[in-house]
Amino acid sequence: MTQDTPAGLATRSIHGHSLKDVHGSPHTPIYETTTFTFDTTAEVLDVVEGRTVGSLYTRYGLNPSIFALEETLAGLENAEMAWVFCSGMAAETALFLTHGREGIICIGDAYGGTMELLADQLPRLGIPTHLILGNELDQLDALLAAGAGMVFLETPTNPTLELFDIADIARRAHAHGAILAIDNTFASPVNQQPLSLGADVVVHSATKYLGGHSDLTAGVLLGSKALLAPVWSWRKNLGSMPSPATASLLARSLRTLVIRVRQQNASAQAIAEAMAGHPNVERVFYPGLPDFPGHALAREQMHGFGGMLSIEIKGGREAATRTADRLQLFALAPSLGGAESLVTQPCTTTHHGLAPEERSRRGIPDGLLRLSVGLEDSADLIADLEQALA
Ligand SMILES: *Cc1c(COP(=O)(O)O)cnc(C)c1O
Repeated sequence: MTQDTPAGLATRSIHGHSLKDVHGSPHTPIYETTTFTFDTTAEVLDVVEGRTVGSLYTRYGLNPSIFALEETLAGLENAEMAWVFCSGMAAETALFLTHGREGIICIGDAYGGTMELLADQLPRLGIPTHLILGNELDQLDALLAAGAGMVFLETPTNPTLELFDIADIARRAHAHGAILAIDNTFASPVNQQPLSLGADVVVHSATKYLGGHSDLTAGVLLGSKALLAPVWSWRKNLGSMPSPATASLLARSLRTLVIRVRQQNASAQAIAEAMAGHPNVERVFYPGLPDFPGHALAREQMHGFGGMLSIEIKGGREAATRTADRLQLFALAPSLGGAESLVTQPCTTTHHGLAPEERSRRGIPDGLLRLSVGLEDSADLIADLEQALA
């Protein structure tokens, strides 16, 4: 950006990189190239030794489709730096291997793959991990004092939309020399800016809102140069670079991020309000409802309440399954953030692997349906829910 005052988020999502294509392409072209050629050895060394940002080898991220995208992504949350990955899980794995080796404390519910990594796989590599729930936050300071170097959490969480106070947890982590990493996938940069609240690293599954069309798999890490620089060689040698075509598709998607998410926020709010009064609905989990437990915190730390909500259907598991199966516009699928609305029953999909007692300890009722609100007309979505609930 060449302006003096920082541009707004929508402007940055469209004009957020300085790459000038020789043909004047208004968007980032696909450099479907694995390696780049040089005129002299001195020019090769300038790139290899980091004196110039240049193209060299695609798996290193030294490809214009990738570094232009990274510049835009960093700008979305005013981060010094962004690294893009071939999936959200690849981004998390590289983050944990780089900065989590002294121990990782995960607060609250997290994505299934994250949970498997933390509960099962990283401990087998000798990395200590601690999983605590939102009502066990009193254990945090002792775990930090015992030496854990990283706190990791999602807010709002999946699928109960529990909120955590990012500024407060950042202070507690920093008091012990630990860093705070936030998975900001559910909120997206439009609704939440964790770095500005004190978090040190942000993770996105770009497969969700950043991609926004259910047509690409990618991940992102955002943070300071000091924290992200050492992640680079892990990404390089784990080989977790997206293809240039995926990078370009993601850059294309970012151009509509702000209008998509704002529309999804508005539709989710309308659906939450309609469902809150429905006789066959036990409870609605949505940060935008004034009586939702996280509402006050959401007003403080979020810029919008998001496109994700969950509804608990009266009659439990079978009633919820019947409702999900009767929905016509909402398709049954366990992802989120796309243009099409999706529904999933956590006890049959994302949280199927948990024992029933563990689901109830986590406050996930079997009658819960999680909705990812898309870009259809909200009146049609509400009508679909009403016919399915009737
Ligand atoms: C989907 C998801 C992930 C994993 O992302 P992939 O791109 O599928 O690897 C991580 N965290 C959250 C919150 C997610 O929804």
